[in-house]
Amino acid sequence: MAVIDDYKRHSRRVTRTKRWQVLRHEILERDGWACVDCGTRRGRLEIDHVKAVRSRPDLAFAADNLATRCSRCHSAKTRIEVGWSPVFESPDRDDWANAVAELATGNATPASAKEKMTCWNP
Ligand SMILES: [Zn+2]
Repeated sequence: MAVIDDYKRHSRRVTRTKRWQVLRHEILERDGWACVDCGTRRGRLEIDHVKAVRSRPDLAFAADNLATRCSRCHSAKTRIEVGWSPVFESPDRDDWANAVAELATGNATPASAKEKMTCWNP
């Protein structure tokens, strides 16, 4: 989670400003109060920095760099940005869960566990 926290720390410097509150509303209006990925209008809509504030702080308030996303699409995108495999529809996820379960029960050799970790996060 440390990497995600690091990203959040950078964007928080932006999102707690008055300027952001105004801009955020403009982006929601522009995108029709719907997620640009899945089109949902339900749930919590978030404003995503297309290029993360961490890498492009100069684009933090650029409308072209902002997009409305539901929290599900937003977190899926952020996970990819920080180099994690996506949670959703990942075939590796079961392998990982199995590897952890095997480790917990002591049925796995360290070598096979290591192999699976490489597979999970190449
Ligand atoms: Zn969505």
